[in-house]
Amino acid sequence: MMNKEEKLKKYNEWVFKQSAYNMALALINYDKLTVAPISGSDFREKRSAFLAGEAFSISTDKEIFKIIKELKDDESLDPATSKALKMYYKKINNLMCIPKEDYIAYYQLVSQSYNAWLEAKNKNDYKIFEPYLKEIIESQKKIYGYRDSKESIYNQMLDDYETGMKEEDYDKFFYSIKNRLIPFINKIIKAKNINDAFLYRSYDIDSQKLFMHELINYLNFDRSWGYLSESEHPYTTWMCENDCRTTTKYIKYNISAAILSTIHEVGHATYEHNISDEYDGMILSEGVSCGMHESQSRLFENYLGRSLAFWQNNFSKLKAYFPNELMDVEVEDFYRAINKSEISLIRTEADELTYPLHILIRYEIEKGLFNGSISTENLNETWNQKYEEYLGIKVENDREGILQDIHWSDGSFGYFPTYALGSAFAAQFMNKMRKDIDVDSLLRDGEFSIIVNWLKDNIHQYGALYDARDLIEKVSGHEFDVNEYIDYLIEKYTELYNLS
Ligand code: ZN
Repeated sequence: MMNKEEKLKKYNEWVFKQSAYNMALALINYDKLTVAPISGSDFREKRSAFLAGEAFSISTDKEIFKIIKELKDDESLDPATSKALKMYYKKINNLMCIPKEDYIAYYQLVSQSYNAWLEAKNKNDYKIFEPYLKEIIESQKKIYGYRDSKESIYNQMLDDYETGMKEEDYDKFFYSIKNRLIPFINKIIKAKNINDAFLYRSYDIDSQKLFMHELINYLNFDRSWGYLSESEHPYTTWMCENDCRTTTKYIKYNISAAILSTIHEVGHATYEHNISDEYDGMILSEGVSCGMHESQSRLFENYLGRSLAFWQNNFSKLKAYFPNELMDVEVEDFYRAINKSEISLIRTEADELTYPLHILIRYEIEKGLFNGSISTENLNETWNQKYEEYLGIKVENDREGILQDIHWSDGSFGYFPTYALGSAFAAQFMNKMRKDIDVDSLLRDGEFSIIVNWLKDNIHQYGALYDARDLIEKVSGHEFDVNEYIDYLIEKYTELYNLS
């Protein structure tokens, strides 16, 4: 029999070992998405798969699982260790309950399904993807069925991405969005259009890069702990608080694309950098929920990066790199242009105001797929009907419709809702921040570090120590309320579009 100290020692050694593999895999992946020569991919993929297999065996080690199970309810442990143990237990338990043959079969299915999705998207034909989608849903039901849970399958999936959020919570959330936001968006559609044509002039990429370095300095993204590279789809990864890697993507005929995606990703990276160093390599640093992480990137991008005060500091710097392209543009014009609202088909290109409707549609479909009220057969038509109903827009083809997102091809059901939730969490954090500090003056004066410190003290330092909704309550003093988000959107867009 091991005593408690021996168990903790074994557990800590296991945490360290796991973090070594995770670091290797994250670095290999970052390298692959940014600089790795394509011809070496076969060699690399095989070794990476081997390392991933080793990491999986380590993370599901039976002896460690037993230790974690014994330690997780020990009330004499400190709160951080105790929370980490509970999170590891849940994570490992969810993996270990799946019979190995089902696990392997599922991963084979996912890779076939991804290929089918790609082919369907290229050929613009949902029918190619449909049988795979159906099978993915059936196997997800089977796999989740192994868990010893009283919750519905979809509730379990929602919980995997955002602990504690269930269908009934999201139903309330999206009900308010539907009721308050759709009528407001209809007013915006009828309002006078905002001119944003100048955003799509020709912007030299080398000059964009030079400006980006000034911008990340302004954001306090420091080269001593962070690195900015480029990739097809911007993303962020991290090894520890002092090694956060992020990427952006430059587009010649779109000046706002790289700027906004950089601010967004720096938001993710700043979060990770500010998590307490005691949590380095632990689940408390890696395991922050999707909604919480997205709340911080969207707070950076939308609430700060798309504000007038932000550009009152940064616009003259941008204009210095593009004196001809922006000759006839004033800071207010730029601010309005990057906030322009337009009904569109593609989620990732949607503006801040219409974005949650794209998520609402996906949520309703996912829910229906798992409660049996919607079938995969002709799901493209269901999709198109919902776009017409909620956004008043006709979907002309599957590529710009149901096949636009990768998520369902790998079975990530329950993920989409966290995107809208993150924006809403951010609204509540912002309201509190504005009570504590004068955000607009700080943005105008280039005192971004004070904003970052507020975020660190109130949110970032804790990592995953608190579940999102508990942290929101701790920070703001009251429960999460979607109306703060809707109020923010209505207020901002009423001003932008001069509505009364
Ligand atoms: Zn993000």
